[in-house]
Amino acid sequence: MRFVPLSVSAMNRLSEHSQGPRRRGWCPSALRPMMAADGLLLRVRTRAGRLTSHDLRALARIASAHGDGAVGLTRRGKIEIRGVRDGEAALAALRKAGLVRNDSAPDLLVSPAGDLDSSAQTDVTATAEAVSAALHQDPRFQDLPAKTAIVLDGGGRAHLGDNYGDLRIDAVGGAASIALAGTAQTARPLGLCSLEAVPAVAAALLLRFLRLQATMVPKPRRLSAVLQSLGLNAFQSAAAPFLTRDSARAIHRGRAEVIGRVPGAWYGLAFPFGVVSADGLLRLADAVENCGSGDIRVLPSRTVLLANAGPETAALLQAAGGIGRNDDPRLRIEACSGLGACPVATTPTRGDALALAERVPGLLSGGAGGCALHVSGCAKGCAHSGSALVTLTGNGGRYDLSLMAAAGSAPVWRGLTLDEAAARLNAVERSVEAQRAQDEKLEATMKRLGAAGLRRLSGKETAGA
Ligand code: SF4
Repeated sequence: MRFVPLSVSAMNRLSEHSQGPRRRGWCPSALRPMMAADGLLLRVRTRAGRLTSHDLRALARIASAHGDGAVGLTRRGKIEIRGVRDGEAALAALRKAGLVRNDSAPDLLVSPAGDLDSSAQTDVTATAEAVSAALHQDPRFQDLPAKTAIVLDGGGRAHLGDNYGDLRIDAVGGAASIALAGTAQTARPLGLCSLEAVPAVAAALLLRFLRLQATMVPKPRRLSAVLQSLGLNAFQSAAAPFLTRDSARAIHRGRAEVIGRVPGAWYGLAFPFGVVSADGLLRLADAVENCGSGDIRVLPSRTVLLANAGPETAALLQAAGGIGRNDDPRLRIEACSGLGACPVATTPTRGDALALAERVPGLLSGGAGGCALHVSGCAKGCAHSGSALVTLTGNGGRYDLSLMAAAGSAPVWRGLTLDEAAARLNAVERSVEAQRAQDEKLEATMKRLGAAGLRRLSGKETAGA
């Protein structure tokens, strides 16, 4: 997505007109408004990943009155309202609903279901609130680069092991593992501290990042760049006063399991492209109130969990437009917001992705997970940075089609209409089926044949198409 960031922030500037010069402590990070082709875009933070039914009803009202009638779940666990015409009015409505948080500058990604999940290491909700409070108190954190993220992961089925954090805090056996710049597997570990020390160690490390960043030319935008240049030792002394004598531990997280009903814990739902309509929000609010759990939990995987939901809640939740089954092919589709929402896009990416998915079901079923179909408005690939089995990249109102590649990669076919893309993919499906060994996974066959082999095999069928 190519946005035009407003020079200070739209909300601050709007406020300045009536309130004089910007006050440094005025909550610049609770909303990060940006101008997109379809209007202002606001991102609202949750409280440690929780939204009450009151919050859901307020978001539905505000999205309908001030935005495009829906909200988006972001990959940082925030709620996005798009197409906002009157930012001042939207902000006033969010404030009135208690949805503007005086929060810390960096995004804080929290595993929000520790109290529901017996397999979680710990419930990190209180730690998350303490980290937010500690960072908000110090205006220096407002100078952190906008993309800075802290991941606070209590483990369990709804873990955040795959989420990248400039700073990662992983609960391990009653303590917290502190690591820098990575996922649970790849972050560079510094050591262990008590959960009570987490706010202090987070503050110390982020201040060290700011200090080191200021000494470097050019100024690096991410902590990972400082780490790469100066090494772990540059951060070690900032964390040392808070670390225990125990050695750092490797963090092992299994596959996160959140969709569908987990008896005694939650009912998890995803939404196509992470978009929930205002009506869907109201139905979610009904479900929260009917099952009496009090709130939903929002994960950075763009899924929501309804606590303690029984089987009777399933129909209500799915009426909200949610995906409640792990084998739903829509979980394997990614598409950016596309034409009308992004000035670069020339194709209606999301509608095309859903239409195409119905025409090539074989490519989306029975896979090993991950993205099978990515429809991107341009080579930037905002919705999915990695490779997909099939990628369509918008190009002047048509699509370039690549196989087992990322958006913008060398295409197998260029300049296709959606019908032409579907015809070629049907041919690819048939070629793969014809070449597939017994019990071989579709991805394995595709990899074995390679993009060139698939093109050759399927090209005969589509010649002249
Ligand atoms: S990938 Fe999509 S949203 Fe991102 S810049 Fe390109 S068209 Fe816009």
